[in-house]
Amino acid sequence: MPELPEVETIVSQLAPLLEGATLARVQISDPRWSAPLPPDALAAALEGRRVERLGRRGKYIVWELDDGRRLVQHLRMTGVLLYDPTPDPTHVRVRMALAGGPNSALSAGSAAHTLVICDPRRFGTATLCDDGRALERFFAERLGPEPFDEAFSGAYLRAALRHSRRAIKAALLDQRLVAGVGNIYADEALFAAGVHPARRADRLSLAQCERLHAGVVAAIRAGIDARGASIDDFRHVDGVRGSFQDRFMVHRRAGEPCPRCATEIVKTVVAGRGTYCCPRCQPPPRRVRR
Ligand SMILES: [Zn+2]
Repeated sequence: MPELPEVETIVSQLAPLLEGATLARVQISDPRWSAPLPPDALAAALEGRRVERLGRRGKYIVWELDDGRRLVQHLRMTGVLLYDPTPDPTHVRVRMALAGGPNSALSAGSAAHTLVICDPRRFGTATLCDDGRALERFFAERLGPEPFDEAFSGAYLRAALRHSRRAIKAALLDQRLVAGVGNIYADEALFAAGVHPARRADRLSLAQCERLHAGVVAAIRAGIDARGASIDDFRHVDGVRGSFQDRFMVHRRAGEPCPRCATEIVKTVVAGRGTYCCPRCQPPPRRVRR
């Protein structure tokens, strides 16, 4: 699933192409994408609208339209956005014909562009919010602070986790604790912090929470710098893959030596997810220690 760095990469690539462009024609072929609105209703709301701004919050892409409405899009497992793809891709769920745009004045009569949303597993969604306040309510129910927010800190983590008996990895995957962290960046952040993924969240010290805060920020930053990780279907808007998978310290590296101490990295399951850690740098809690 695309996490914050992957979504940030998509948005930074697409924003210059979409901002100022008009959604001349919108074809939605999957009712699961537009639900609860029927595809025709969402398409009608979007057609003719100009995209004022494309942004990101957590793992959501936020389309700000010229009538004040916001389209909040989530790619979930396998969603990708492709700009003028050739040849025509498979699993197309949404097709948008774009008119105008930032460069249209430079080349009169320039060809229109196409944005295609493909999603083999069809978990991707889009929700229409009527205005900025509706958007705030939408996110307030679902998302905690962004990793780069000042509100996100070691002290914040310590306070937020004080009564949580969950494994720390499960807490990190909860978007209400911190927005945008998923399976990859949780593993990398926990390794950087020297914290075992199965440790109980309420047992972390303030020092551990501070290391974890730094680990989350560093992992997300490195992911953005590498333009995301392509381990499943994630592709850039031009179909190119990200490169952060080549820089994983522990994620998907079971059996390889830890980059810090050379102990073999192990794979376990925490919070129902495949989880990778170094058993020496990240000492297991006593109840799972062997
Ligand atoms: Zn190690």
